[in-house]
Amino acid sequence: GGFQSMGLSYPVYKGVMKKGYKVPTPIQRKTIPVILDGKDVVAMARTGSGKTAAFLVPMFEKLKAPQAQTGARALVLTPTRELALQTMKFTRELGKFTGLKTALILGGDRWSPIYIIKSQFLSHSSIFIIGTPGRLMHVIQEMNLKLQAVEYVVFDEADRLFEMGFAEQLQEIIRRLPDMRQTLLFSATLPKMIVEFARAGLTEPVLIRL
Ligand code: AMP
Repeated sequence: GGFQSMGLSYPVYKGVMKKGYKVPTPIQRKTIPVILDGKDVVAMARTGSGKTAAFLVPMFEKLKAPQAQTGARALVLTPTRELALQTMKFTRELGKFTGLKTALILGGDRWSPIYIIKSQFLSHSSIFIIGTPGRLMHVIQEMNLKLQAVEYVVFDEADRLFEMGFAEQLQEIIRRLPDMRQTLLFSATLPKMIVEFARAGLTEPVLIRL
């Protein structure tokens, strides 16, 4: 099956076509229907596999229905600010026709102490928040960012999130998320630490490997 057989709505499908994707990659073919079905997912996928679109496409599909409640509805956690930036750019391109708004939270020397794409940050229409765990915790604490409306959370490159020493912040963030949510974990490798993290933070996840 191609993208057209996945039951995507026109604004989501149009974004995929505009990127020039003809057929889904293997990880997309396996993951997109499971996410659309509302299941938690642990997916073994490397950079280059098309993993980013594998979580973004179904999230766009689910998030395009407007919601009365304000606040971010999707959280994407990345190990580095470079990946956060890249993922935000990609989210804006791929989701161009959905009208969903994206905010980026970055930290570090060059963007010291905090750099935010202000135009869309925390405006009531900001749906996606993308950033590194350390900076996100900072914003939660300093700016009183609330996560009570989050319905989807992605741990992207989870093995690297742990390698970067974000374990404590990840636990903190999970504690602040609503229980009623869909959690998606993407990782190139599944060391014991990640398996335990998934066991605690995900609900009956579907394991997807190629
Ligand atoms: P990722 O693994 O998410 O970093 O994606 C790697 C590259 O594959 C990116 O340049 C994507 O734009 C591209 N890509 C993702 N899905 C597809 C697809 N179905 N067909 C062709 N290229 C794709």
